[in-house]
Amino acid sequence: MTTGTHQTWTNWSGGVKATPEAIWRPRDEAELAALIRSFKGPIRPAGSGHSFTPLCASSGAVVSLENMNGLIAADPEAGEAELWAGTPVYAVGPLLHAHGLALANQGDIDRQTLGGAIGTGTHGTGPDLGSLATMVTGVTLVTAAGDILNLDRSNEPELFEAARLSIGSMGVITRFRLKLVPSYALTETSYVADADTILNDLDNLARLHRHFEFFWFPYADQVVVKTLDVWRGEPPGRALDIAAMKARGERISRDDKLFGMICKFVKAVPRSAPFFHRLLTKQMAAGEARPGRVRWSWETFPSARNTRFNEMEYAVPAPMAAEAIRAVVARIRKDRIPTAFPIEFRFVQGDDIWLSPFSGRASATLSVHQFAGMDQTRLFKACEEVFRAYEGRPHWGKQHNLTGRDFAWIYPDWQRFQAARRRVDPEGKFLSPYLRTLFETGIA
Ligand SMILES: Cc1cc2nc3c(=O)[nH]c(=O)nc-3n(C[C@H](O)[C@H](O)[C@H](O)COP(=O)(O)OP(=O)(O)OC[C@H]3O[C@@H](n4cnc5c(N)ncnc54)[C@H](O)[C@@H]3O)c2cc1C
Repeated sequence: MTTGTHQTWTNWSGGVKATPEAIWRPRDEAELAALIRSFKGPIRPAGSGHSFTPLCASSGAVVSLENMNGLIAADPEAGEAELWAGTPVYAVGPLLHAHGLALANQGDIDRQTLGGAIGTGTHGTGPDLGSLATMVTGVTLVTAAGDILNLDRSNEPELFEAARLSIGSMGVITRFRLKLVPSYALTETSYVADADTILNDLDNLARLHRHFEFFWFPYADQVVVKTLDVWRGEPPGRALDIAAMKARGERISRDDKLFGMICKFVKAVPRSAPFFHRLLTKQMAAGEARPGRVRWSWETFPSARNTRFNEMEYAVPAPMAAEAIRAVVARIRKDRIPTAFPIEFRFVQGDDIWLSPFSGRASATLSVHQFAGMDQTRLFKACEEVFRAYEGRPHWGKQHNLTGRDFAWIYPDWQRFQAARRRVDPEGKFLSPYLRTLFETGIA
């Protein structure tokens, strides 16, 4: 189905806007393949628009898979399930839990679609846990020629390797087969500690907990630590359904409203940032986790994030991470850059995916945020210089200033990826001007 012409498409933060010629909401693969075959202009697949970079922006067609969502099949014995790529992450937990299955890890929010989250390497925290893309064992891809390909390690392995993290550049992925774990519950802890104490004990803390992360408001000397561990006692009595999960993420809490007001105040009075950083450190420790609370994993991972911001995130090699975050904080303080947000620090297991920021190395991610009502240029430019000095690789969905020349250098399998992509899209039907800046290296 083709809906309307020249509608406005906007991302979550409001920083990316596009007026595509058409927004497609196909109901099945045959309809999608026919639309792709008959369309002459450029095409971009889109999920929930939660990327901060203009990955989905297109003057041609934008494809939404909102009508291709839900569970296709689950195999609890094999620990696998097939889901439509348009499934929102908040629906995945309840759908899998009905079969005793769960994702091994998730990110901070659950508003994304599987297609978008997997396609950018979205991750949570845990040194032994990879990004969502590492859970993929098979994909169905609709290509620029309108072919419907089922790809996995034994059927077209090169295309499969490239497609599982491909920022929508190889066509539209309609289904994912995922390797899962048995349903599990988590217990939460959150506390405030001196930044130095935590940074000096990072390896130990990461080993002690299944999920370890911390938030550092850069003008404070303390950080907010959050840990999650598997609960081995009596399982939670009830599980939330899809409607409840959907509603939970949209609810605007009192803390959210207060934080929104603080962001506006910091914008008006930048020198107030250090005061609020000390205050927010204490307030966040109380609000981020409920110590002792036990919930199903997919109810525990996501928090509502309703104050709009823009974000930059780089993955650095884990052994350099403590030094890297110290350097970022020092730089923000030295340059007196105002922000109301903390830096988030997480661990991610290394993997073997060609375009994964975690490819070939155990990593830690450092994320900096700026209120959507404030200019992020100074903050992101200063932090990016530091991230790059620590061999950082940017998150595909978050802001950065790298181009194909940089990526060809950063990723050992870059040319292999481009060769696979060109095989299924030789004319670049899925490339927008923005994607061309990411992919064109000047190297033939
Ligand atoms: C509040 C907030 C919190 C976040 N928290 C985290 C976090 O904890 N961890 C983390 O790693 N990231 C996080 N992110 C980033 C986010 O997970 C990614 O940007 C993700 O890609 C967004 O998913 P989406 O469904 O909105 O995809 P979109 O942003 O709409 O699309 C992302 C990419 O996927 C492609 N794509 C989408 N669907 C398909 C498909 N069916 N076939 C092929 N390609 C497709 C698009 O073309 C595009 O290139 C966060 C973002 C926000 C706004």
